[in-house]
Amino acid sequence: MKFVPSGHPAILDFAEPSIEAGEVAVAAIGAGYSALRIDSSQENVVTPLKNTHSSVIELRGIEKIYPGPGPDRGFMALAGIQLTVQRGEFVAVVGQSGSGKSTLLNLLAGIDRPSSGEITVDGHSLHALSERALSAWRGRSVGIVFQFFQLLPTLTVAENVMLPMDFAHRWPLRERRPRALELLDRLGIVDQADKLPSSLSGGQQQRVAVARALANEPTILLADEPTGNLDSRTAHSLLELLGNLAGDAQTVVMVTHEQAAMRYAGRVVTLRDGRVVDADDVDADDVAHA
Ligand code: ADP
Ligand code: MG
Repeated sequence: MKFVPSGHPAILDFAEPSIEAGEVAVAAIGAGYSALRIDSSQENVVTPLKNTHSSVIELRGIEKIYPGPGPDRGFMALAGIQLTVQRGEFVAVVGQSGSGKSTLLNLLAGIDRPSSGEITVDGHSLHALSERALSAWRGRSVGIVFQFFQLLPTLTVAENVMLPMDFAHRWPLRERRPRALELLDRLGIVDQADKLPSSLSGGQQQRVAVARALANEPTILLADEPTGNLDSRTAHSLLELLGNLAGDAQTVVMVTHEQAAMRYAGRVVTLRDGRVVDADDVDADDVAHA
């Protein structure tokens, strides 16, 4: 039996003969489908069940309250966020300074926890994980790119990229450098591998940071204002690069002020005062540089 999802190049072969028409089969999780329904009229055609399998990020009723100095409830930075991101999407999160973008990204990264609500990434309920489990999950599943690159200045470019592999113990020692070089090659900077970050341009340093973020094949690649410290030409090329990385198994969520981001991202989510703004209500102030 063969399965060709519409708009998706994958062809999945089913060797399992006991699946009956109309049955729901759990299969092909690695390809982003965890449930498939076999069409009862056409034996050889199955359709993925919508919204049960291809979403990778689910936020339900997320609130984040930062404790205040007084006896009051503190400051509500996120005030009830519902958001679903599909596997392979490139989502840009925009909004004025202080609208909650970084807070949201930190929750997705498992760096911080919501005050209430549920956050599920790739089937893991982050709100329910212990500190230790959350940190292990983060090392395996999340890659993050920051505005100021945050490369370690005394390590070479290749060593910076190998660092997350050293923490996650996912690849044997001898495979780490070849893997780092492969990532750097993919990002067009393999010739810089043995230099120190300080001898690279800003755009090159940010590519190193992207290579480092990809080191452990993260489920989600997160970026907080990744172009904030780049000139506009370099910024465009980085946005294009992030756009090219997204797809298939790689989901990208980027926080940005960059107007141009909208051209590269598949979807723009606008935050205002800790809430998602309906597409119809977005105004110029939401996306203006703050
Ligand atoms: P953005 O990234 O959109 O500029 P942030 O998520 O950084 O916004 O911040 C949202 C709001 O939460 C801001 O008003 C900010 O001052 C406040 N905030 C952020 N981090 C903290 C913190 N650790 N403690 C108290 N308030 C915070
Ligand atoms: Mg921010």
